[in-house]
Amino acid sequence: MELRIMKIHNFSAGPCILPASVLSEAAQAVSNFNDSGLSLIEISHRSPEFVSVMEEARALVKELLNLPDRFDVLFLQGGASLGFLTAAYNFLPDGGRAAYIDTGTWANKAVKEAKNLGGIDVIGSSKDTNYNQIPDCGAVSKGSAYLHFTSNNTIFGTQFRETPATEVPLIADMSSDIFSKEFDANPFHLIYAGAQKNMGPAGTVMYAFDKEAAGKTNRNIPSYLDLEVHASKDSMFNTPAVFPVYVTMLTLRWIKALGGVKAMELRNSKKAKLMYGEIDRNALFKGHANEASRSTMNATFQLKDEAHAHAFDALWKGAGISGIKGHRSVGGYRASMYNALPEESVQVLVDVMKELERKA
Ligand SMILES: *Cc1c(COP(=O)(O)O)cnc(C)c1O
Repeated sequence: MELRIMKIHNFSAGPCILPASVLSEAAQAVSNFNDSGLSLIEISHRSPEFVSVMEEARALVKELLNLPDRFDVLFLQGGASLGFLTAAYNFLPDGGRAAYIDTGTWANKAVKEAKNLGGIDVIGSSKDTNYNQIPDCGAVSKGSAYLHFTSNNTIFGTQFRETPATEVPLIADMSSDIFSKEFDANPFHLIYAGAQKNMGPAGTVMYAFDKEAAGKTNRNIPSYLDLEVHASKDSMFNTPAVFPVYVTMLTLRWIKALGGVKAMELRNSKKAKLMYGEIDRNALFKGHANEASRSTMNATFQLKDEAHAHAFDALWKGAGISGIKGHRSVGGYRASMYNALPEESVQVLVDVMKELERKA
């Protein structure tokens, strides 16, 4: 293998950076899994070796998120994008209504899919200000089956600081901030998250759901979309995405070894403080998200004067920084600081911003 000359600082919004130790263990498992002489990806998913991977991954989710006993955990396919529909299939009663908060692209897609199955009330939206904040919301009507929200808005760089307070059960797409900070799972019926933002590679989506609440919809649920079908088969209704589940399991072990979600929260708040501190201090830059809604995972920012773009781009590329170009709907830059991104990488980006200021 060729030696990497320069360290790359990977700020990719997703698929995202993973811990180096996880990558090397995963690489080893692809050539020789647990000294079996076989690759992880050429053995039966029903073999005791892989069944124990799946069981450990599911158990680690329960432990790290401190989920109540009534929750079950699954690793399925179709990404969070299929999760938008799966959520409604399992928790929106036939002829019923549900409330949604519109905080951008992903929330919109969740609304669109749920509308296939029932009446949807959007109780708050920040569309008018290009989703630069978590909106104030109207009341959730008592008849709503649940309130759905997107805990972190990957594209616009906004994040719910607190779980929304409401009488009805909650459902959240936590794709881009799962395992980044502590929260109380008790008010939730369902939490789902695509693996590739903060857990593992693309190819699997995690569902954590209240078994007692699922499926009370009075409608036929197609087998693959039925969470209870998957739970009854221990997340092995069909061939699971063995490699993504394995890498996710390794990442969860890594989180646990570092002190769990609480330790991640501390790391992430330090990185965010450093990043936003420079965005606010440096006169050449401005943030996209309102201060009270800023995401600890994805910091979105712009140059006040586009004339500096050429010089800035050359500087960060020269420093080994990768993946900070903003999403086309926001423009500018986006520094994604998921769990595995070291503080050192944020410091390199901050130093580059300071250097631009000196040269400008
Ligand atoms: C990336 C992302 C998605 C889409 O996930 P897929 O696994 O690609 O379907 C959904 N929601 C959020 C918040 C995301 O960041």
